[in-house]
Amino acid sequence: MVSESSNQRLSIGIIGGGIGGVAFAVALSRSTGLDVQLFESASQFSEIGAGVSFGPNAVRAIQRLGLEKAYRRIADASPAPFEDVWFEWRRGSDDGYLTATLAPGCGQSSVHRADFLDAIVAQLPTGIAHFGKRCIEVTQDDERATARFADGTTVSADILIGFDGIKSAVREHVLPAEAYGEFAPFWSGTYAYRGMIPTAQLEDALEARGADRRLALVPQMYLGTDRHILTFPVKQSELINVVAFITDRSTPNPRLPEGEEWVQAVTQQEMLEVFEGWGAASQAILECIPEPTRWALHELPELPRYHRDRVLIVGDAAHALVPHQGAGAGQALEDAHVLASLLGDEACNRQNVQRVLAAFETVRHARTCKVQRTSHEAGNVYEYAGVGIGDDEAKLIENLETRFDWLWNHDPEEDVASAQQVLEWEAARA
Ligand SMILES: Cc1cc2nc3c(=O)[nH]c(=O)nc-3n(C[C@H](O)[C@H](O)[C@H](O)COP(=O)(O)OP(=O)(O)OC[C@H]3O[C@@H](n4cnc5c(N)ncnc54)[C@H](O)[C@@H]3O)c2cc1C
Repeated sequence: MVSESSNQRLSIGIIGGGIGGVAFAVALSRSTGLDVQLFESASQFSEIGAGVSFGPNAVRAIQRLGLEKAYRRIADASPAPFEDVWFEWRRGSDDGYLTATLAPGCGQSSVHRADFLDAIVAQLPTGIAHFGKRCIEVTQDDERATARFADGTTVSADILIGFDGIKSAVREHVLPAEAYGEFAPFWSGTYAYRGMIPTAQLEDALEARGADRRLALVPQMYLGTDRHILTFPVKQSELINVVAFITDRSTPNPRLPEGEEWVQAVTQQEMLEVFEGWGAASQAILECIPEPTRWALHELPELPRYHRDRVLIVGDAAHALVPHQGAGAGQALEDAHVLASLLGDEACNRQNVQRVLAAFETVRHARTCKVQRTSHEAGNVYEYAGVGIGDDEAKLIENLETRFDWLWNHDPEEDVASAQQVLEWEAARA
């Protein structure tokens, strides 16, 4: 537990050990003077067996976090000569090529989620992680912030950081409903069918359907009205990660049927019916997934604030979004780097740490809200519902070739420098 009598510069409790929380804890553990403890609700660290794709900004955050070596060992890339291709875009109806989005020097950089979590967990010093610790309440006073867990224990620290995902318990403390109203996750209207296919099996299936075998290994997006399918390789190209999306746009605020689970096992037949009439490649892909799972994709509204005095929420807890720009984990990693850099700075201490958390919010809020907003818009664009774009292919192509530039051309180190300026640390050190 974070010791009550810590004589370190600062004690930090992290709630949640997903990709963001673990990367953050690893980065903090390299700084001196910090007492860092992480509390995870599950009985061990775990991630699902699906792929996660990183844009150039996320890969930069991974480098800045000092996790590049571990990442490169397990990361996939687009095969030569398509190294710079993030995705090729095709018509779902006939596989016709529209364009490719290029990410020079990065391409489609992706990993198997569980492998990535394992790789960063391996860097975590022993004694930091505590399992079976489901946070159910957060409180604070002038001296400490305290988390209460479902097992009846509590822990106090100078600050608490909520890295506890979209269903965050810490968020309720930062944004109490009495003061701010409800900020609950809402269904985006989109279901995502997920599956993994052995690469050789998909190559053969594509060929048997008269489609190009190359479509297996080069990352693809197949687009259509209210639907799209994406594929990219993971596990050193052994497997192809597939996500097939369908969106209900019949009402402005679609609601998930009462009591429906967010994630469910469904039949292959259901998925095939959704994509009936689509082209050869789509049929080949979906026929290779006998047991899909269906995810009701939820997101958060843009939150007015991320911090309250000694408590801060980050990652999906603060800005959960739909995955259409492959950006959620990337934002969690950017948060992790920026916050770890500020807290790890010798200038940060018990007296000024609340100002540090406020400075973090100041420099990160606009960007993370924009990523949420544009991720939702991206789903509309891919499914021929983009405002002013629709199914106009020329406009679609122009949008797809440029829409990621602002997101990808960002270095989280700039946010660190901006926060240091807000805090006037550089001036004080001069
Ligand atoms: C279908 C799909 C595809 C996606 N694809 C991509 C992609 O390609 N690229 C990308 O960048 N992002 C992608 N994302 C988004 C990405 O998965 C998330 O943004 C990312 O996992 C957020 O990381 P996090 O650490 O903030 O939260 P999480 O990964 O959700 O981790 C939260 C952790 O906190 C723990 N926890 C929860 N509640 C408590 C509690 N009360 N007490 C203690 N511990 C708790 C959980 O067990 C978990 O370990 C995708 C998401 C979906 C749904």
